[in-house]
Amino acid sequence: MRDCAHSEARYYQGNTLAGILFIISAPSGSGKSTLVNHLRSLVTDIDFSVSYTTRAPRRTEQPGREYYYTSPAKFEEMIQRDEFLEWALVFDNYYGTARRSLTEAQAAGKDLLLDIDVQGAGQVREKIPDAVSIFVLPPNPEELAARLRNRSIEEGSLDEQEISRRLAKARGEIEAYRQYRYILVNDKLDYAVESLTAIVIAERAMRQGAQPDPETARMMQLADKCRQANATERLEPVLASFGLIDMHATRA
Ligand code: ADP
Ligand code: 5GP
Repeated sequence: MRDCAHSEARYYQGNTLAGILFIISAPSGSGKSTLVNHLRSLVTDIDFSVSYTTRAPRRTEQPGREYYYTSPAKFEEMIQRDEFLEWALVFDNYYGTARRSLTEAQAAGKDLLLDIDVQGAGQVREKIPDAVSIFVLPPNPEELAARLRNRSIEEGSLDEQEISRRLAKARGEIEAYRQYRYILVNDKLDYAVESLTAIVIAERAMRQGAQPDPETARMMQLADKCRQANATERLEPVLASFGLIDMHATRA
């Protein structure tokens, strides 16, 4: 127990041995996995934490690649043994990040990216306040529904009830955007991929503190536009489309 707490603190200090902890969250179907897959091919020295889940694998998924698939009983044993940095119930299934992911990334001197829901992100932020959090938004509910539907068709398992459930949940999750440092609207995929890459590069450059080269400086500017405080113009139409704000009242 004490070792775990100690290693989390080292991550928080962000010294040269421990890297940066990135958290990425989004309503299901926003395109987060797509963005993360692109990031994996563009950026080195970042590990991607493979979570544990009790949900069944999708047709395109492989054990140990997307998730470690486990039974509820085994998951509960892991909770008892305090093996999780965070865990949550999402859509009636357990999902959790093993503390091991963090210690392994630390040992390798790498950054670590956690793809977790808003409940898990809250738990991690409490333990590691220096974590860099990124919230991905779909452009509007119609596009989110279309993406959920397309993905289900691609996987050969169109389940309208499940899609409706995920859509209904999205609205509540989107309100959590306020707790995240960066906001990405995944409208045009290329721009969203470049913005995500820019956030990673900018955070690294800020911690190094050295004079950035021109390309790094450009990426830092792009990342800056995604900071929550600077993202209002991109964010407001999305919030309005989900009925979370009234654009006319905002503009008045
Ligand atoms: P998540 O991981 O957030 O649940 P996925 O990455 O699985 O979402 O994406 C859901 C669906 O949306 C996939 O079929 C994916 O190809 C598609 N998609 C992702 N980003 C975009 C985008 N910018 N424009 C159009 N379709 C997208
Ligand atoms: P999916 O079943 O679509 O892969 O994921 C459903 C949700 O669970 C997504 O929001 C995803 O980010 C989240 N999730 C995946 N792994 C974890 C985890 O380890 N912890 C938490 N809290 N959420 C997770």
